Amino acid sequence: MSRLRSQDKLKSILKDYFVCLSSPLAWCTSVGPAEILRALGFNVYFPENHGALLGASRTAGKYIPRAHQAGYDDEICSYLTADIGAYLMGETPLSQAYGLPSIPRPDLIVFNTNQCREVAEWFGFFGREFGCPVVGIMPPRHITEVSQADIDNVVGQFEKAIKIGGEIMGRPLDYGRLKETVALSKQGAVLWREVLETARKAPSPLTFWDGTILMAPIVMLRGTQVCVDFYQEMLDELRQLMNAKQAAVPDEQVRLFWEGMPIWGRLRALSDLFAENHAAVVASTYCNSWVFDCFNPEDPLRSMAEAYTRVFINRSEDAKLGILRELLDNYHIDGIVFHDSKTCFNNTNSRFNLPGRLQKATGVPSLTIDGDLNDLRFFSEGQVRTKIETFVELLKTLKQ
Ligand code: SF4
Repeated sequence: MSRLRSQDKLKSILKDYFVCLSSPLAWCTSVGPAEILRALGFNVYFPENHGALLGASRTAGKYIPRAHQAGYDDEICSYLTADIGAYLMGETPLSQAYGLPSIPRPDLIVFNTNQCREVAEWFGFFGREFGCPVVGIMPPRHITEVSQADIDNVVGQFEKAIKIGGEIMGRPLDYGRLKETVALSKQGAVLWREVLETARKAPSPLTFWDGTILMAPIVMLRGTQVCVDFYQEMLDELRQLMNAKQAAVPDEQVRLFWEGMPIWGRLRALSDLFAENHAAVVASTYCNSWVFDCFNPEDPLRSMAEAYTRVFINRSEDAKLGILRELLDNYHIDGIVFHDSKTCFNNTNSRFNLPGRLQKATGVPSLTIDGDLNDLRFFSEGQVRTKIETFVELLKTLKQ
């Protein structure tokens, strides 16, 4: 981690982004319709990013108990509990990092349950706190294919969000601006895919651990020129590294796939552990969740509806099996690590025998580790270390 020049660029981009988060401001889920909000003229803030920051800064453990006191169970989404707990304690890492006095106050909150119903409860809490409108996009869930009827359904819900957003802004949506925003999202998503695909090459110039940090613009600045320029520069940097045969993991011997949520408070430790064992984690469903192939500026609402309903987390087990098979093949994967994240069953895919069916279909072995995105009480350092070291040794033996 942190070998790339793009990391420095990212710091200045994020600073500019956070200090400009003033009203009119909308909150949005990470795979929600940010383009609509931007085109309406809102600044857009993403509470999941804040949840991840609480995890990465290892402050989540301080805040989660406060949410429990307020009645939120200790086995529900630890983004939600960390974020609500931090709010109730009047603290945020954004103060120290960017000088913000608090999380930014919303004029509108929009969520999409394409990822989980937890976001409805989480964003609903803040809607009540701030007394602002909350609009939920609720697409069909766990689908194998996305039908035209599914797209019609979601477009209808987008139109409701557009109407409410337009009333707050005091002007209707400019569809020309929406087209431009979707065009920028498309360019950003294409570049993000190309960035990730540099890891198809062995040795890889990029790991999943780099990706978890460098994905911030495609999540938070999707639909802006800043995002497009950042990934163009990053792609150039990665191509230079590839030409110079500079590997992210020296002496890369096995190539792994990470399935499930990151363990935000242990990114560095896990990155080091895999690197020490000459194992490069080169791809993940998590980072690939922001590769959107469907955006079409000529048909912005329908293409957004399709892109956001097709996301991996919203698909059936059969569809997930197909997507994973393709990724394992494209990235020349030797083994998969499934993260069973205690407080996010929505983004845990090891519980209905997907690892077994995937191994049967591809021959690629897998390991499941227990942990959590933010709540480190569910993560056992020693146990995970032993399991990973043993698994990597097995993969090395199988490759001989
Ligand atoms: S997908 Fe998981 S981590 Fe993300 S908001 Fe939903 S429950 Fe939380």
